Amino acid sequence: MSDDSASSSLRLDRSVAKQLFFGDIFEENLFPYPTIGVRDRELLGPILDAIDDFLKPQHAAFRQWDERAEQPEEFIQGLRDMGLFSLIIPEEFGGLALSNAAYSRILGQTSSHESSVSLTIGAHSSIGMKGLLLWGNDAQKARYLPRLASGELIAAFCLTEAGAGSDAASIRTHAKRQDDGSWLLNGEKIWITNGGIAGFYTVFARTDTEAGKLSAFLVEASWPGVAHGPHEDKMGIRSSNTATVSFTDVRVPAENLLGEEGHGFKVAMSILNSGRTGLGGGSVGAMKSLIHLATEQAHARHQFGRPIAEFGLVREKLAQMTVDCFAAESTVFMVAHYIDSGCEDYSLEAAISKVFASDAIQRCAHEALQIAAGNGFMKDYPYERITRDSRILSIFEGTNEILRLYIALSGLKDVGASLNELKHAVNSIFNDPIKGFGVLSGYAQRRFSQSTGIGADRVRRELAPRLAVLAKVYEKYATELARIGDEALRQHGRAIADQQFVLKRVGDLAIDLFVGLCVLARVDALVRQDDPQADAAQHIAEVFTAQARRRMSRCVRGMQRNEDAGLEVLAATVLKDERYPWDVI
Ligand SMILES: Cc1cc2nc3c(=O)[nH]c(=O)nc-3n(C[C@H](O)[C@H](O)[C@H](O)COP(=O)(O)OP(=O)(O)OC[C@H]3O[C@@H](n4cnc5c(N)ncnc54)[C@H](O)[C@@H]3O)c2cc1C
Repeated sequence: MSDDSASSSLRLDRSVAKQLFFGDIFEENLFPYPTIGVRDRELLGPILDAIDDFLKPQHAAFRQWDERAEQPEEFIQGLRDMGLFSLIIPEEFGGLALSNAAYSRILGQTSSHESSVSLTIGAHSSIGMKGLLLWGNDAQKARYLPRLASGELIAAFCLTEAGAGSDAASIRTHAKRQDDGSWLLNGEKIWITNGGIAGFYTVFARTDTEAGKLSAFLVEASWPGVAHGPHEDKMGIRSSNTATVSFTDVRVPAENLLGEEGHGFKVAMSILNSGRTGLGGGSVGAMKSLIHLATEQAHARHQFGRPIAEFGLVREKLAQMTVDCFAAESTVFMVAHYIDSGCEDYSLEAAISKVFASDAIQRCAHEALQIAAGNGFMKDYPYERITRDSRILSIFEGTNEILRLYIALSGLKDVGASLNELKHAVNSIFNDPIKGFGVLSGYAQRRFSQSTGIGADRVRRELAPRLAVLAKVYEKYATELARIGDEALRQHGRAIADQQFVLKRVGDLAIDLFVGLCVLARVDALVRQDDPQADAAQHIAEVFTAQARRRMSRCVRGMQRNEDAGLEVLAATVLKDERYPWDVI
């Protein structure tokens, strides 16, 4: 997805989502919507066909493997033979060197057949060995990447522990430096995807030095002291291997420290950030498959003498699934483009794409099952499996609650910094009047725009009339985001971090804004290309924007008028005795 013309105009030092918190719509990084690069397109065609040829005949087997919670070794060998463990590894190490966009598209294709397949490939590439790609030195890459590319070594990412889930910084696994420079690693990681089949682990351990608390290590499964537990019995993605991995007095050579000592948290977060489009791409692929299944079902099933496809309430579901899928796809591939183009800061956009796509596929699975109704509830049909499989997506790689808070807080951080700058400017105005007044006048201008709407950021790109109307909605709510963020910071100061109801509104508003702008940019591109589906795509943009406007308006209103106090009382009530305290008798 690295169209040269699109990437050349990108400002690599700007984050569109962060700019939104200042009321700015940073068009240079939104328009024109990127197109897939020539090399990627040429490679993707045959790979997608090969995936279909390999996975289609396995559909009956997937159901059995889901029941038995297994993924047979011969099947994994088939994935190796197709090169599916080598997708993002550079060619010099035997990989296909695909872009993030192409990689996400491939996970979409595998997910359209079976999510557990995407998990096996995705945990390997998106998180298991991503640290080596991002932070590894030449020697580490030369030692491991060829075997990772061939799939001889499958990779896994070992961060979570029994006492450390969302609070990843609180891990207890520790590594103690030995006199010879090696490390002695002890601890246990839980729920590790590929944990029982991996030969290569990226492990995070506490090293507690002045440099920082956590460090990352490359650990081989064959080393003495490394062991794994049985495959977990799960609700969904049952054939994807999930296991506990333990480390007992494991000697890790000095050269297997990944990145710098004490920088483990940064390594972990960078891996998760750059891996999120894989999960988003998988969600999009599964949604496309659900739309196919649901439309087929809507035609095939007759009630009241007509196919149920003719009923408004069924059509409404199909349309909503289409809007959700298009919006998620537009966002995921925009973010993949940022990563592929070398943008320095895409963490907020990546978090938005993960939250939106994982919520969207769950809505989609729910509605597709509802269209199939009784059939949907039966194991003979794939709906219930897809519903179970998609549930994990809002739990792992950062829960959607944590990511919503992250989106709000990291967006507000820069706004807070600018407010601090303002404070300093006021203090230093007498020492350095020119600099001080410069900051002040920028701030005054922003406040004036927020309160009056005059001078607020406008989308300057010339859009088709139907899209130009929609752009105004995003202009308005970008200004609103800046305003409510500013007010929240003034009201709560540092305590904003504990104001989760407030942060959720700010985060949700930012999500709808960024996703909506991605939709707008993509539909603009389709209109310009005279795409045969451009008219339908404009309807998507209109429906999404109208729905987003209602949600965004609720977020803004909720800053002043809300039920937060009542909700706090009710939560305290049930928490007090850990039960619902009423009964009708
Ligand atoms: C199938 C599966 C595969 C996995 N694969 C891997 C893997 O390969 N590698 C790996 O390292 N981990 C993996 N995990 C772990 C996964 O990343 C964690 O489950 C996830 O980070 C959440 O941690 P937790 O389950 O302990 O939930 P908790 O952190 O205990 O959270 C419980 C609830 O509280 C909420 N919550 C927590 N803190 C806050 C807060 N500050 N504010 C508001 N709400 C909060 C959460 O959103 C959640 O709803 C996997 C998990 C599963 C189930």
